[in-house]
Amino acid sequence: MWFRKSKKGNGCDGMVYFCDARVPKWSYQHSLAGKIERLIDKSALLRDELGGKTVAVKMHFGSEGANRTIRPLLVSKVVDRLKKKGAKPFVTDTVRIKGVDYLRVAADNGYTHLSCHAPIVLGDGIHGLDGVPVDSGPTVGVIDVASAIYDSEYMVVLSHCKGHIQSGYGGAVKNLSMGCVAAGSRRGKDEGSRGKMHSPVMDSPFKWDSEKCTRCNICVEVCPRDAVIFEYDEIKFTEECWKCGRCARVCPTGALTSTITQDKFQRGLAEVANAVIGTFEKGRIIYINFLLEVAPECDCMPASDTPIVQDRGIMISGDPVAIDMASIDMINASSALPDSLAGEKAGRERDTLLDRLYSIDSSRHVRELASLGAGSMKYRMIKLD
Ligand code: SF4
Ligand code: SF4
Repeated sequence: MWFRKSKKGNGCDGMVYFCDARVPKWSYQHSLAGKIERLIDKSALLRDELGGKTVAVKMHFGSEGANRTIRPLLVSKVVDRLKKKGAKPFVTDTVRIKGVDYLRVAADNGYTHLSCHAPIVLGDGIHGLDGVPVDSGPTVGVIDVASAIYDSEYMVVLSHCKGHIQSGYGGAVKNLSMGCVAAGSRRGKDEGSRGKMHSPVMDSPFKWDSEKCTRCNICVEVCPRDAVIFEYDEIKFTEECWKCGRCARVCPTGALTSTITQDKFQRGLAEVANAVIGTFEKGRIIYINFLLEVAPECDCMPASDTPIVQDRGIMISGDPVAIDMASIDMINASSALPDSLAGEKAGRERDTLLDRLYSIDSSRHVRELASLGAGSMKYRMIKLD
């Protein structure tokens, strides 16, 4: 097992810089493209020491049908600011579907060398097997951090903030944990793959209720590995399954459900995020959260539902906990948009807008990361003019 000689931690001072999505004046500097440039400069988080250094710009490329991801234009503005400091950025994600097909998805969603101004790289290799084993702690154990991320000297984490059916909310912390771990592992099936976070029971990842199952085949169609099959009218998961959890998430009747508990899942997310942070030297990860087209579900789903709140803006911070808490608070303080999932769930039993989406404590994994000392629950927000 390899470890970076790290001075663990981040720039965890609780500072969050924010620009509003509203346009007060009709000028480029008040556009989102102009604002993200000014926001990066104001934060002073991109330092001169970046010159000549490799920087992983980590994002989620989306999926076929999930179109509400971060606009390539805004990715290119981040890349240009890095290049201005002399850095060598590349734009990366870990694979979600088979090999080169994921590069096709990235291109279809607009992420190419030309649009992003930097190479597009699959962080865990063309087959999702290239990772470096790192011990994340008692809940998930050893995970394989995507090698292109592990080997980078700096990272900028671009997160599209949204709801999430398993964690309630997905932002910087989730992008660090799920997003930076290899899809598979060369050390053996299930040894260090992302699927370890979704399912503690690797040979039987999901519960299936035959009575509830309508044999609609949606789980079969959504699987990126062709790993769900029906044999003699019984559901089966083949060796190809990498426990991404998609099949259970799309099941319309609740016949197929995950076996993992919230205790394990949310704590596991935090421990793995902390392990990924630990592969970088202190202060070498910067987080940018996009509260734009805030969808109710993950960008790996086969479709993007309508936004749950109005576009709010963009945040930047050196602190993963502070930026996610600020994002969660801002989404929860927003009005639920009509004709959205949040609008449908308005007034239901849970207190906050995000918690109500799936009856989940949506900030739990962020609080768990704070309890590991990797960030500040208290934040101070500085707003761009
Ligand atoms: S999606 Fe659910 S209901 Fe449909 S076939 Fe699969 S398990 Fe059965
Ligand atoms: S978890 Fe479900 S969707 Fe994902 S690879 Fe396994 S069978 Fe396919």
